[in-house]
Amino acid sequence: MSNAELSKRDLSVLWHPCTQMKDHEWLPIIPIRSGKGVWLEDFEGNRYLDAISSWWVNLFGHANPRINAALVQQLEKLEHVLLAGFSHEPVIELSERLVEITPPGLDRCFYADNGSSAVEVALKMSFHAWLNQGKTGKTKFVTLENSYHGETLGALSVGNVELYRKTYKPLLLETITAPSPDCYLREAGESWREYSLRQFEHMEKILRRQADEICAVIVEPLVQCAGNMRMYHPVYLERLRSACDRYGVHLIADEIAVGFGRTGTLFACEQAGITPDFLCLSKGLTGGYLPLSVVVTRNSIYDCFYDDYENLTAFLHSHSYTGNPLGCQAALATLDIFNDDDVIGNNVTLARAMQTATAELADHPHVAEIRQTGMILAIEMVRDRTTHEPWPWQERRGLKVYQHALQHGALLRPLGNVVYFMPPYVITPDEIRTLAEVARDGINLATTG
Ligand code: PMP
Repeated sequence: MSNAELSKRDLSVLWHPCTQMKDHEWLPIIPIRSGKGVWLEDFEGNRYLDAISSWWVNLFGHANPRINAALVQQLEKLEHVLLAGFSHEPVIELSERLVEITPPGLDRCFYADNGSSAVEVALKMSFHAWLNQGKTGKTKFVTLENSYHGETLGALSVGNVELYRKTYKPLLLETITAPSPDCYLREAGESWREYSLRQFEHMEKILRRQADEICAVIVEPLVQCAGNMRMYHPVYLERLRSACDRYGVHLIADEIAVGFGRTGTLFACEQAGITPDFLCLSKGLTGGYLPLSVVVTRNSIYDCFYDDYENLTAFLHSHSYTGNPLGCQAALATLDIFNDDDVIGNNVTLARAMQTATAELADHPHVAEIRQTGMILAIEMVRDRTTHEPWPWQERRGLKVYQHALQHGALLRPLGNVVYFMPPYVITPDEIRTLAEVARDGINLATTG
């Protein structure tokens, strides 16, 4: 079976996510035969270093022997059972462990099966918790400019990336948008901390004026990933937590992309020393193996729903694959790896290697900024580095980096004109150097002419 044969079959029956399918008249689909560690291999033996962890899900490599073994064992016992009225060992153990490792005060796990669904759960739970307390006026959510929380209509409503949102605007919930603390936009000479603090004043004003109609503020802690890997200082989260407490508003932390070590700590919220009211997790939760998500919340929220059936206060939300045993088992194996290996410690070394390997690009005439938070490093390509004038989006320069990287054995999938590394944690410093060379050459190619 060749790449071309499979692509032909693919293109006659599939409709791919987040894709203008007409592009595939000239941009080949790459059928992958196998994966091992950071490497993916196609049907002609070409290998690609998965620098973006297959959309930020993979933590410990493809075909990880420890996760594989756990799944094989689970397969022999139980593949799935509904989670209403029934339970199983993997979901109980996973919940116990999540309660233990997430910030203090988060005591209850509600499962779904993908990131967007977890966001829907958190939004509905927040609204409903207020409702059950008689606060009927709280119907709105505050979101940050440039945020992303998924593609289902509720999640899209609280997202703010125009590319995904604009078309569906007539279908979306009305939200309140606060300016982003995104430090790319800071003034020259201004620190991340100063800028994040300055931007927080807008949020404070919104909460002060409108708390009566607000259920929750939803944020991606520290890194707005789909919004071009824009980053901010933990002080913003610190202030936000305290303001939410002061004004009686929930805080939803969407750590779907940044959870499980991506930002340098197990959870990004730890860097601000805060506990959100709802913590949404997915992606890395199963090490990148299976679709699973969870909302971890407080017992005080849980208690708002706990009543006699006749009072109709229950949270009647469900997904068929909620808490799937195979997903939970993959998650347990993933947490075992965090326990057994010094993952967070080793990532410090890898993060430093990413910084060193890309340092030469800092003076590149078409690089405005190289920014990094833990295991996420982003390189912002621009037409003019002094004014930050971007290239016209129609030129699709990021796509040129993507194509160059594929030809040179790497899967880099820039977000617009932002090239980024978000690799599995099993990448080696040598592989990071190779990746940086591919990225550098790709950027040179893409910014010429
Ligand atoms: N929230 C964030 C922060 C995300 O990055 C994503 C996915 N990129 C989602 C939510 C949605 O997750 P899913 O794609 O699994 O629906």
